[in-house]
Amino acid sequence: MKFLSYRDSDGVDSVGVLVDEDTIADLRTLIHTFDPNGLSPIRQLLRSTGGHLQFSESDLAKCTRHSCQSIRVLPLVPDPTKVIAAPVNYRDHQAEMMEDYHIDSLGVFLKAPSSVVGHGDIVRLPYTDRRFDQEGELALVIGRTTANVPVDKALDVVAGYTCLLDMTMRGGEDRSTRKSFDTFTPVGPYLVTPDEVGALSELQLRTKVNGILRQDADIADLIWGVPELISYASSVMTLQPGDIITTGTPAGIGQVSNDDTISVEIDRVGTLTVSVSAAGAVACPTKGAARGPKPPEEITPVRSRQAAAG
Ligand code: MN
Repeated sequence: MKFLSYRDSDGVDSVGVLVDEDTIADLRTLIHTFDPNGLSPIRQLLRSTGGHLQFSESDLAKCTRHSCQSIRVLPLVPDPTKVIAAPVNYRDHQAEMMEDYHIDSLGVFLKAPSSVVGHGDIVRLPYTDRRFDQEGELALVIGRTTANVPVDKALDVVAGYTCLLDMTMRGGEDRSTRKSFDTFTPVGPYLVTPDEVGALSELQLRTKVNGILRQDADIADLIWGVPELISYASSVMTLQPGDIITTGTPAGIGQVSNDDTISVEIDRVGTLTVSVSAAGAVACPTKGAARGPKPPEEITPVRSRQAAAG
């Protein structure tokens, strides 16, 4: 099943399930003790179901229906307690960045929860004189409160999968600064339950900028797989329902600028599309531009990369 956070035509925020291509069933009526002034509806849904998002036909028959045309998609989780990210988690990206380290020695990092936006939203570049790159990634949403989960139980705490763009300013400032500007974490458009996603090792991820393919990767090439990443993250910090873990980006990162359109497409997970604006950008007040891991000057053509890998 596919779940999404949305704002209806009356301006009310909700969570629903896609019952067909153009119809959403509003799930608020199925949430026990739903509080319209509380956490985001999707977080209340996760808490009330323990993260097992399955509903019967008879449950859904009780729900109000909306046309997809009448709603606005919100960030999949508008208010996560945290967004946990893997720094370097594909060999080809490690090579393009000339990085000696990966998650084995770097651990994970946090992106500000206030940086999330949704499908169709705008990524706003804050500075005129810095480089900003797209990083397309597979992400997952935690279904229930979890600490120290072993690797072999880690997938049990996943409510579902989604697409994420880990927007990044290049340079030597801390990752938590470079990746936490408002709008720098587009996530969605929807959550797809694990039964519908199937084997992660079969999935491919493609990121396009203005329709041109930049990233084309097998999820099977993750250095740290999804269960290992969840288990490790949960050993550092307690995971809460609605927390987002993003798994890292493959080779093919590259600069984005004003008026670009970015899309991340993952088989059976969906396509997340956003636009980019530099309106209101100012000179950067920090001086990290020449420091930090060095990205390629030009985008590595996908085909030559595949030839080199093959
Ligand atoms: Mn990333």
